[in-house]
Amino acid sequence: MSCKLTRRFVPGYLDGELDLSHTIEMETHLQVCTECVRELKTQQALRAALQRSSLAYAAPEGLRERVQASLHASAPAPAGTPVEAPKRVNVWNAFQFLRWAGAFAVLALCTVIAWQLLPGLRAPSSEQRLAAEVLTSHVRSLEANHLMDVVSTDQHTVKPWFDGKLDFSPPVEDLASDSFPLVGGRLDYLEGRQVAALIYQRRKHFINVFVWPDSAAVNSTQIITPQQGYNMTRWSRGGFQFWAVSDVGSADLAEFVRLLETRTAPESK
Ligand SMILES: [Zn+2]
Repeated sequence: MSCKLTRRFVPGYLDGELDLSHTIEMETHLQVCTECVRELKTQQALRAALQRSSLAYAAPEGLRERVQASLHASAPAPAGTPVEAPKRVNVWNAFQFLRWAGAFAVLALCTVIAWQLLPGLRAPSSEQRLAAEVLTSHVRSLEANHLMDVVSTDQHTVKPWFDGKLDFSPPVEDLASDSFPLVGGRLDYLEGRQVAALIYQRRKHFINVFVWPDSAAVNSTQIITPQQGYNMTRWSRGGFQFWAVSDVGSADLAEFVRLLETRTAPESK
């Protein structure tokens, strides 16, 4: 199977929709083609990010009980219950029928309205899309062996390296004294714009920090829920947006962000 065909089959493969012969052909190709494996993993990561719980809506507690209670209330009376005149029963049945018909009409209307609205409601927010891009970039940088364009533990080497490559000068701090040594930098793209990627190390783990200017950003920090075994945090300081992503523990990442925030505070520049 060619790379082109493999890429076309990736969505079906992930959905388990391929037949046996295509699945075998695809898996045979994946054993020898790292490019296609990377594409598969990228799509897997993206899917996982889009399936995060914040995109799903759980029915409220108690809904099941309320539906069951209303079904019991409208169930026929048990045998032996005195029955009134037949004509009266027919009227009652007709009333019950209309009641349910009305309920179904409302339900149908709600379904139609929800059908119209859902694509808009379920489309991921720009922040969720950005989080998915950040995660994809992180995974790709580690798998494609393209973690660093400039390898240096010296912030005075890494910072000037970005000059002339970016239309801004990212704040570059070394945190070696706090056991988060700076190990290099890289150019990357997020949401179609060039960003600086700073790479830090914690023991054997890498932390990608994506930085770009955002004059509208208010100083703030937000912990993003873990995805696919990675922890992610974003924050804004001194007119820059920062996103950090890594497989280090959430406590380590929080400590790292706290240290970096302190160093990049506007007053210390
Ligand atoms: Zn291939």
